[in-house]
Amino acid sequence: MFKALVVEKDEEGKTHAAVQNLDEDRLPEGDVTVAVEYSTLNYKDGLCLGSGGGLVRQWPHVPGIDFAGVVQQSADPRYKPGDRVVLTGWRVGEVHWGGYAQRARVKADWLVPLPDGLSTHSAMAVGTAGMAAMLAVIALEDHGLKPGDGPVLVTGASGGVGSVATAVLAKLGHEVAAVTGRPGSEDYLRALGASQVVQREDLSEVTRKPLESELWAGCVDPVAGAMLGRVLKQMKYGSSVAAVGLAGGAAIEGALITPFILRGVNLLGIDSVMQPYEARLRAWKRIATDLPMDRLKGMIRSATLEDLPGLGKDILKGQVQGRVVVDLN
Ligand code: NDP
Repeated sequence: MFKALVVEKDEEGKTHAAVQNLDEDRLPEGDVTVAVEYSTLNYKDGLCLGSGGGLVRQWPHVPGIDFAGVVQQSADPRYKPGDRVVLTGWRVGEVHWGGYAQRARVKADWLVPLPDGLSTHSAMAVGTAGMAAMLAVIALEDHGLKPGDGPVLVTGASGGVGSVATAVLAKLGHEVAAVTGRPGSEDYLRALGASQVVQREDLSEVTRKPLESELWAGCVDPVAGAMLGRVLKQMKYGSSVAAVGLAGGAAIEGALITPFILRGVNLLGIDSVMQPYEARLRAWKRIATDLPMDRLKGMIRSATLEDLPGLGKDILKGQVQGRVVVDLN
């Protein structure tokens, strides 16, 4: 038997989440059974803890879009009992049972071995958001960004993606300009390594100008909306923006073609969900070596399965700060 947070749908179509003890034969099909040690909380988890937001197809459902743990059983030669693994994406926690349980059964293809130097707890402090941030930094590097090129802008800097991007870029020797609208987060961002803090309102206005002064050598952008439209016009010649999210809106407001055709600016799309294995492995290895975990400690808090229904509602209202690590031990 193992403990799981199960979401059930009643006859009136309402969903209810509660902790249950389940038998292992309830687990879905898969090659590898993992003893989950930690999971985390993402916006998508908030949806899947409630009505499903169109992501969940079948109930009863176990949410949790990412987890880290230890292999318990494996029918795949790539994994053996005792191996430490991490999973993000592949629609686990949405269409497949996820990490809000002490056991998960998944396809071997979806797993990544945890690199040495990264604990299962740290992996979930980083989570899907941090993995996406690392993919964004790698994409910028692959398009030529190197330390010394000039300030790299990180939008939504005190959020999950932004915090990890700020800490990694600073550790790599980049000058980081961190954008925030959160009062009082300046000290936190400077502790992560930001050398400049930019107020959100300075980049929120939609302008009609085709271009502005060249300021940024690169950008990690989890915000989009009016901010991305504005930032594109301020990018240095030949530089790149890694588009990771849409915390500020799905449109790119006020965007014009001018930065692309007059300054050769690149807009790089970052998806963590369907990312191929080799790219995931590369990202997790880089997280192990290039993310100063001690700098993130202040933003991590612990939660239990029992806390999740309440936290799920909070994250949908934007009321969860920092990273929540769910302890399944
Ligand atoms: P968080 O909620 O932790 O952080 C988002 C941050 O964006 C906030 O902390 C805030 O930063 C800023 N922000 C929020 N609303 C606005 C607004 N209206 N205008 C400007 N800035 C705003 O989210 P995550 O970092 O976990 O995720 C960010 C985005 O990335 C989401 O859209 C998410 O879905 C996406 N994502 C994409 C992935 C991918 O594979 N591409 C993977 C994971 C996440 P501050 O408080 O500093 O102002």
